[in-house]
Amino acid sequence: MSLLEINHMKKSFGEVEVLKDISMKVEEGEVFGIIGPSGSGKSTLLRCATGLETPDSGEIHYNGTFGLVFQNFNLFPHFSVLKNIVDAPLRVQKRNKEEVYKEARELLKKMGLADKENAYPFQLSGGQQQRVSIARALAMKPDILFFDEPTSALDPELTGEILKVIKDLAAEHMTMVIVTHEMNFAKNVSNHIIFMDGGVIALQGTPEEVFGSDNERMKEFLGKFA
Ligand code: ADP
Ligand code: MG
Repeated sequence: MSLLEINHMKKSFGEVEVLKDISMKVEEGEVFGIIGPSGSGKSTLLRCATGLETPDSGEIHYNGTFGLVFQNFNLFPHFSVLKNIVDAPLRVQKRNKEEVYKEARELLKKMGLADKENAYPFQLSGGQQQRVSIARALAMKPDILFFDEPTSALDPELTGEILKVIKDLAAEHMTMVIVTHEMNFAKNVSNHIIFMDGGVIALQGTPEEVFGSDNERMKEFLGKFA
C-alpha cells in the first residue's frame, strides 16, 4: 500500500521553478532515499510534501500521518527533554497523560537517553539533541517519518549514532523518507532512491540501479564523494 503518493507537483519561488513536475510513491515499510546536489530541490520537495510549503500545483495523497526530523533538531530550547517529547502528544493529540509519559520514557530509553529526561537541549551534544528530536517525532506515532539531512549539522563522530538509530528503525519496518548526503548509508539502508537534479527526479530505482547508473549527472555527483 502506498502511504504517500505525489502527482505532478510543481513549486516556484518567484521566477525560479524549483520543483518541475514531481511524481513519486512511498510504500509502507520502505526506506525512501533522496539524494542530489545542493540546490536541486530536495528540501523543497520535503517541505511541500509535508505542508510546510504550499505547492503551486499537483496532488498529494497520504494514507496516515507523518513526522519530521530536521537538520538543526528544532527542539524547544526552554523545555526539558521529556517535555519536548510529551508536548505534542498531550496538547495536539490530547492523549492520556500517563500513557504519553510512559511511552516518552520508553522512547528515551530506546534512544539511549534515559538519564537525560530532565536536561535541556543546550546541555546535550548535537547527536543527543537529534536523538531527542527523533524520539519527539516518534512520540506522535507517525506512519511515515521524514528526515532532511539529519546528520549534516553533526560532527563526523556523532553522525554514526544517528545513522544507527535510523537503521534500527528501518529494521522495525518504520516507513521513512530520508534526504541524505551520506552515500553509503543511502545505498545500504534505502529500498528505493530518487536522484534529484535541477528540480526533477533525474533517476530512480533500487540502490543498485541508481548507484550503478550510467547517467552522466549521477556519475558527476558521485564523483564528489569519491
Ligand atoms: P536542496 O535541499 O536540494 O539543497 P532546496 O530545496 O533547499 O535544495 O532549494 C532549491 C532551490 O530553491 C535553491 O535554488 C534555493 O535557493 C531555492 N529556494 C528554496 N527555498 C526558497 C525560498 N523560501 N525562497 C526562495 N528560494 C528558495
Ligand atoms: Mg536541503
